[in-house]
Amino acid sequence: MEQLKSLQDILTHFKEESVCLEFLEQMRWNGKPVCPHCKAHRPYKLKDGKTYRCSSRFCRKDFTVLVGSIMENTKLPLSKWLACIYIATAHKKGISSCQLARDLNLTQKSAWFLMHRVREMVKPKSDTTLSDTVQIDETYVKGKAKNRSKYKRKLIAEGVIKDDATVVLGLVQSNGSVVLKVVPNAETATLKPVINAIVPNSDTVIVTDGHVSYPAIGAEYKQHEVVNHSEYEYLSASGFHTNTIEGAFSHFKRAIYGTYHFITSKHCQRYADLFSYRYSTRKIKDAQRFFEAMKQTEGRLKYKKLIEKL
Ligand SMILES: [Zn+2]
Repeated sequence: MEQLKSLQDILTHFKEESVCLEFLEQMRWNGKPVCPHCKAHRPYKLKDGKTYRCSSRFCRKDFTVLVGSIMENTKLPLSKWLACIYIATAHKKGISSCQLARDLNLTQKSAWFLMHRVREMVKPKSDTTLSDTVQIDETYVKGKAKNRSKYKRKLIAEGVIKDDATVVLGLVQSNGSVVLKVVPNAETATLKPVINAIVPNSDTVIVTDGHVSYPAIGAEYKQHEVVNHSEYEYLSASGFHTNTIEGAFSHFKRAIYGTYHFITSKHCQRYADLFSYRYSTRKIKDAQRFFEAMKQTEGRLKYKKLIEKL
């Protein structure tokens, strides 16, 4: 696999469905197939070369490597999946479903669903935690006004409905991973449980700006450094800064406004997840980032769930 270094290599190497399946088996099972129904090992392969039958006498079910994965029941060729995963994880600024549809000869609807499943695939595992020194900040992601209907703009202007900005909380460990979380608002009571879950170790230095929500949260940690932006400070009294999280936010927002123009708060977390994945793996090469993503194909996201109203 080491010879695969670019999108061109991926397109050339994964032309055949059988090669893709073999690759997925290697990535998901490390060469040792596991029954997705009962978790038994040592199923045997049927004559079609891709279906396995569970050898447990209580189960005996058939499956392929796609069952229980993000690709289960897909109607698309796996070669397109792999190309999409490569593109989605490599492009720093993200890619719109319209562009992806043109690049890979898909309908826009397929490309849209495909991208959401890739975002689901690379989302941080629920046990991702940060420690040592953690910068925390929040930002507001707005849909661009020109993409809103005239009627909606009028209602917002009149204060009839609330502005539809989405609040995103961001945490970054020095020289480490970033976690972005969509939160309903930036009040202490909302942010505290989210921050406590991501930064469980109280022996951590927290660095924030002067926002009123942070002192009560920071008090629970070893040290809380405050950078007072309103007084044009860029460093706290002991020399700490929040430049890293602010930089990550500005990349995130440029990618959103430049590529997607408008995202709804319902899907904002998924965009944030793919961004966090790319950001947290920014020091490795594109091909390696693709292979890392391919180890995370477990799990599903159904179209019905994606389009359901919240
Ligand atoms: Zn089984």
